[in-house]
Amino acid sequence: MNNFATSFIIKKHLKKSIAILGSTGSIGTQAIEVCMAHSDNFDIEVLTANSNHELLIAQALQVKPNTVVIADTTNYALVKDALEPHDIKVFAGNQAIAEVVQMDSIDIVLTAMVGYSGLLPTINAIKAGKSIALANKETLVVAGALINELAQKHGVNIYPVDSEHSAIFQCLVGEWHNKIEKIYLTASGGPFRGKDISFLESATPAMALKHPNWSMGAKITIDSASMMNKGLEMIEAQWLFHLKPEQIDVIVHPQSIIHSIVQFEDGSMKAQMGLPDMKLPILFALGYPNRLKTDFPRFNFINYPQLTFETVDKKVFKNLAHAEFAMHKSGNMPCILNAANEIAVEAFLKEKIKFTAMPNIVEACMNKINFIANPTYDDYVQTDISTREFANTLV
Ligand code: NDP
Ligand code: MG
Repeated sequence: MNNFATSFIIKKHLKKSIAILGSTGSIGTQAIEVCMAHSDNFDIEVLTANSNHELLIAQALQVKPNTVVIADTTNYALVKDALEPHDIKVFAGNQAIAEVVQMDSIDIVLTAMVGYSGLLPTINAIKAGKSIALANKETLVVAGALINELAQKHGVNIYPVDSEHSAIFQCLVGEWHNKIEKIYLTASGGPFRGKDISFLESATPAMALKHPNWSMGAKITIDSASMMNKGLEMIEAQWLFHLKPEQIDVIVHPQSIIHSIVQFEDGSMKAQMGLPDMKLPILFALGYPNRLKTDFPRFNFINYPQLTFETVDKKVFKNLAHAEFAMHKSGNMPCILNAANEIAVEAFLKEKIKFTAMPNIVEACMNKINFIANPTYDDYVQTDISTREFANTLV
């Protein structure tokens, strides 16, 4: 056996220590499942949640991490009393989440919090040299240029968890020296695929929360229904794969079997396929460069005699056009888009505004808030605050 093979085998058996930010959410709970099923490969070192103290306590008693953090300080005493007798350290508050990611014992930080809240912990984790398994796409949407600059400076790899970006990443393995001509991000089309404006006018949260192919947290499910999710994913792809906006296209593929496609400069295309199951991209991001064995259901061609493709009507799904505009404009424009969208989605879920009001709020904020071409971290923070303030006046 040569040296390379020996070192590869040793590496293969090294356990990785994982911090799961947002462990009580859809991605977080699936990540725990994946890590527990591969306990020879992964140790869970940290779990964090926003306010769901009951699930956080139950998870910690099962997983026995070193540390847990609950963002909502009102539940700190409950979590502490339940876990400290088991030798698990407990902290509370957003600042604690932003600090815990820097613990020496952590190898990989899985960012599965929702929205803008993921930004600061991701920045701190990168500064501490941790690998990032990135589910929290909003971090790259808000501050992709800054994140890439920091990742480069600190020699940190960002492994995509989002299924489309995982697909692109999987297509690129072994192709690092070959230029990408373009990528196609596939979209299921969500629950309102093919619907017109008059239908969307009367869409309720209950209707929008029924996604045909994926079971996810509320915010991303609404984003999928409004096509904002695909817009955010275009910006996410721009930064992850260092692409120009015109190299990124979206195609609706209702069966969600092809998770995305890379087209190379010779015209050849590579696609990554599989049944829709977020545990696969989570496992690939955590296990890279290894593919770990699973017993997940396998794809059967006979159950899918047709894989079909459609375009999106951007006059109906205006959010996709807004996100494309923000991607081209760059600077703090995607940050404005994101903050406005977070306020709009929250208001829609609380039935304060109609489904069709969401893109209007986003557009109004993009027209109103000061554009900054080369924002600093403080500019992003201020842009987020001012956009939320203005968006709230429109609700
Ligand atoms: P969920 O809403 O299901 O879970 C969010 C998690 O983050 C929960 O643990 C929640 O805690 C925690 N959280 C929410 N807000 C805060 C906050 N302000 N501070 C600290 N913790 C917080 O979301 P998902 O798992 O669906 O999505 C997570 C991220 O992954 C999103 O960015 C999403 O776009 C992305 N993603 C998700 C996919 C999916 O299949 N779900 C697919 C691809 C990407 P608590 O439970 O206490 O509220
Ligand atoms: Mg996705």
